[in-house]
Amino acid sequence: MSIPEPVMMDVDPERYEKVDLPLFMAELDDFLPDTVYDFHVHLGLDEHHVPFSEETKKRSWPAAIPRHFPAEHLIDVQHKLFPGRKTRTLGFPMPNPENNLQALNEYVSRQAKASPELDALYVVRPYQSPEMLEKLIREGSFLGLKPYMGLASHIEDINAVRIDDYLPPAHQQLAHDMGLIVILHIPGLERLRDPNTHADLKRITKSYPNMKLVIAHIGRAYTITFAKPGLEALQDVEGLYYDFSANLNEEVLELALRLVEPDRLVYASDLPITLMRGVREYDGDRYINFTDEDYPWNTDRKPPEVEAKYTFYIYEQLLAFKRAAQCVGLSADEVAKVMYGNALELVESVKL
Ligand SMILES: [Zn+2]
Repeated sequence: MSIPEPVMMDVDPERYEKVDLPLFMAELDDFLPDTVYDFHVHLGLDEHHVPFSEETKKRSWPAAIPRHFPAEHLIDVQHKLFPGRKTRTLGFPMPNPENNLQALNEYVSRQAKASPELDALYVVRPYQSPEMLEKLIREGSFLGLKPYMGLASHIEDINAVRIDDYLPPAHQQLAHDMGLIVILHIPGLERLRDPNTHADLKRITKSYPNMKLVIAHIGRAYTITFAKPGLEALQDVEGLYYDFSANLNEEVLELALRLVEPDRLVYASDLPITLMRGVREYDGDRYINFTDEDYPWNTDRKPPEVEAKYTFYIYEQLLAFKRAAQCVGLSADEVAKVMYGNALELVESVKL
C-alpha cells in the first residue's frame, strides 16, 4: 500500500482554461512586466506541520488552507499564474509554533540552493542565540529572517505581544550587522494603527538602519480604517518597505502608492493561501472572505453561478493593484519596480 499524497492547494486545469487564463490575458497580460518577483510565500512539506484543529479552522480562515506546498509545486504554480513571465520567489515556512521549524527551515534552504527561482528566509524563534543564528543563516544561505508574533510563546496574551518580544533587540542588531531582510508581521488587534507599533518601528529603523525591514501585508491593514491612520503615521519613516500580500483592497493599495510610493512597495502573494478562489468585501474594520471551498468557516455563500466565476485571490489582488496603479497614474517602469525591481534590489543587496 502506498501512502496517499497530502492535500495541497492546486490549479484546477478546467477552471484555469475557462476562468483564470482568459482573465489574465484580458486584464493582466498588458499590465504586468516580463518578470515577477514574489516576496512572500510559505512552503514546506506536510510532515513537518502540526495539523490545525477543526475549531481553529472555523475561527481562523487561513488555518483551513492545506499547508503542504513543496518547492517544485510552488514554481509550477508561479509559471501557471504568470504565463510567459520569468518568476522568482522569496519563500519561508509557515511560522506556527508547533511546526517543526528546524526541518522546515532546512527544507526551504535546500530547495533555494537548488533552484535559481527560489530564495529563502529563516523563520526564527525569539530565544535563539544570535551567534547560533548567524551560523545557521550563513550555512543555509538565508537572505534574512521571518519572525512571527505567535512564536513569542513566553507572552500569554498574543494581543499584548510587541515587536521586541518576537524580534528581540539582539536579532535586530544581527540583522543590522549582516544587512539582512526581515519580513515583519505587525502584532496586536490595532494592527498598523497602533501607536505602540509606530513608536517601535521608528525606534528600530533609526537604531538599525542596515536591516531591510519589510512590513508584511501592508501591516495587516486590509481595510482603509486601519491603513489610513497607519500609513499616515509611518509616512516619514524612511527605509521601511511594505509587501502587499493578501491585500485585495484597491483603496488601501492606492493610498499605499501615494504615501509609501512605488519605491518601497513590493509585490507578494502569501501563496498557497491566495490560491483560494473568491472575493473579499469590507465593512468598517472588518473584511469578509467569500469562497466556494468547503472550509469549516465558509457558511456565508454566494449563488452557484457567482461562485463559478471566482478566480484566485491572488488575481483579485493583482486586479486591485492594477486599478490602484491606474488611479495614481503609475508608469510602466514604476509597475515594474513594484512587481520585481525593488525586490531584486533588496535580495541582491544581501551579502553573506
Ligand atoms: Zn504569510
